This record gives sequence, C-alpha cells and structure tokens, in this order.
Amino acid sequence: MAQAVSTAAEAGDSDPAHLRALPPYAPRGGAPPGGRGTTSGRVLVLNASYEPINVCTVRRAAVLVLKDRAEILERGEWALHAETMTLPRPAVIRLKAYVRVPRDAHRRKITRRAVFARDAWKCQYCGHERGNLTVDHVIPRSKGGGSGWDNIVTCCAPCNRRKGDRLPRQANMVPRRPPSAPSSTIFIHVAAPVIPQAWEPYLAAA
Ligand SMILES: [Zn+2]
Repeated sequence: MAQAVSTAAEAGDSDPAHLRALPPYAPRGGAPPGGRGTTSGRVLVLNASYEPINVCTVRRAAVLVLKDRAEILERGEWALHAETMTLPRPAVIRLKAYVRVPRDAHRRKITRRAVFARDAWKCQYCGHERGNLTVDHVIPRSKGGGSGWDNIVTCCAPCNRRKGDRLPRQANMVPRRPPSAPSSTIFIHVAAPVIPQAWEPYLAAA
C-alpha cells in the first residue's frame, strides 16, 4: 500500500482510458462558478481519519473515486462528464484506507513557500503583504543564528535591506510573531494560497 503523503494519491494510478479521452473537466453549461481561481482545479485529500493530508488535481481525485479508493465528501456545483458516466466534481475526498503520514515531515521541510504560507504571505516586520517577499534569518547566520523554523521569517525586500546583518535589537526590528514550526496543514496552504470555502470545515478541525 501507499506509504507517503506525496504518493498516497498517486501510487499505481494511471488515468482510465475513458477519462483520458476527455478534457480533465467539462462543466455543463459553461465555466464553473468562480472556477478561474488558482485553486479551482484542486481537491483536498483527507486521510481515512479525516485528517487533511494532501491536495491533488480534480482528475487524480476522480481516478481515486472511480477506483473505489476514496469517497467524495464535498462536491462542486458542476459535474465531470465522460462517455459512459457522470461524476460529481470532487472538492474534498477521503481515502478509504488509512495512510501512515510521518508526524513531523512538515516540520523538517523548510522551503520559502512554506515559510510564506506559515506567515500568511506577510512581512513579519512591517506587515506588508505579498509583493517582493524574501526570507530573513532573525538572528543572522553570521551571528550564530540557525536555519530552523524558529529563526526564519517572511520579510519584504525593503525590510530585508534595512535589517541587513544586524540583530533584531540592533535594527530595532522584531518579528510580530515569534517564529515556530507550522501546523501539519501547512502544506495544504502551500499548495493552495486561497483556501476554497468547501475545505474550511475540514481544515479548522485539524
Ligand atoms: Zn517589511
């Protein structure tokens, strides 16, 4: 069986021919409502225990459902059509078999996007949102600062230049929130900066 999060939703799956023959999704009567967002083609994947573990494409979710490896918990307003069947467009699916997820995998994996997602894409010094974001070592590496979650924050480019190689108290720049390892749903936020409404109840419970 599948062991890792990243492969849970894809292990051994190739698209069935009757799905491949069609576009990934064919909304009935025009484009789906609100369907042009960056996450419109994304499906939240829950473990059998209802824990959010992954985000996948609509097509992959459909394959899992057709292979009876997952059930649809939340559906979109439109459906997927293939030659011989119609499937509700999945928004949230739940795997039928429990998949073991390494408890602290998300804590070890520090990427820029994960840091930005943890900090809600806001500079932790001035609060500026989006724009030209960088990551900053709160205690500069040259002064012995580490590269763990507790010493890295999202920082806009101007603040990064202003702080330079100084300690927070030297620069009079202290992160608004003390940085720490993110929650286990961080990779969901990395994959989907804008969380669809249908996902929210499942993420709030996690
Ligand atoms: Zn800033």
